[in-house]
Amino acid sequence: RAIIVVYLLGCIAYAAFQWNAESGVQSIIVSVVFLFGSVFILLIGIMSLQTANDILHIAELRLQATTDPLTGMFNRRFLDQRLPEELTRAKAGRLPLAVLMLDIDHFKNINDTYGHDVGDQVLQSVGQIISGLVRESDIVARYGGEEVIILAPNTTVDVAQILGERIRIAISTFDLAKLGGAAHSDEATLTVSIGITGLAPHGEEFESVIRRADQALYRAKAAGRNLVVCLPTVSTDDDGNNETC
Ligand code: GH3
Ligand code: MG
Ligand code: MG
Repeated sequence: RAIIVVYLLGCIAYAAFQWNAESGVQSIIVSVVFLFGSVFILLIGIMSLQTANDILHIAELRLQATTDPLTGMFNRRFLDQRLPEELTRAKAGRLPLAVLMLDIDHFKNINDTYGHDVGDQVLQSVGQIISGLVRESDIVARYGGEEVIILAPNTTVDVAQILGERIRIAISTFDLAKLGGAAHSDEATLTVSIGITGLAPHGEEFESVIRRADQALYRAKAAGRNLVVCLPTVSTDDDGNNETC
């Protein structure tokens, strides 16, 4: 913008010089044309700047609309949009897709014992641990209060189970005493249960995948918590094999 303003001033100075020099109508017309040209460029410059600012603002709003403010993970709204897209992509490319549903064990106890603030910090720490272990292409979303869904494109349930175990162990060995306010955290334990499933080879609705992941999670809870349980799809693959976990 500064360059355009300098150019504009130059045009005005040139027009004034030509006027004083009485060098004829022609050169004054030329300088007036230049002047209008530079005003036009200035206006275009200002409008481009405004458009760039608007685009940045829209991107920021979009990020806010799809992100959970406490943990920085994606939110449920984003997952509800993204999951059907990923299912379609996986089906079209005949690629595997794994869904991991994670829920903090006895989280209510952590809130009751150490307070809501420490509970919030636990949620943030769980988010950070998960983010540090997943691939860049995986989608991590806070699905509910203390429930997280990980969408792992191009990932078989076998690989997802290894990931689930790594997440479970990393969280169960997290030192709660690191969190501010958790003064007597030596008694506290932080564990999670994880349910895993994959997309049926011939495709299915996202509600049905989520339901199966939820069932797997329920089994992990019922079997004593701090566990990873995988529930395979009931369909068979092209070779007639039942998919296994
Ligand atoms: P389970 O092992 O069966 O999952 O037991 P739980 O205590 O984790 O399950 P429950 O659903 O009874 O409790 C979930 C708790 O999560 C209750 C709610 O107060 C807490 N919670 C939900 N969202 C937040 C949050 O944003 N911050 C904090 N600190 N607590 C939350
Ligand atoms: Mg829970
Ligand atoms: Mg829950």
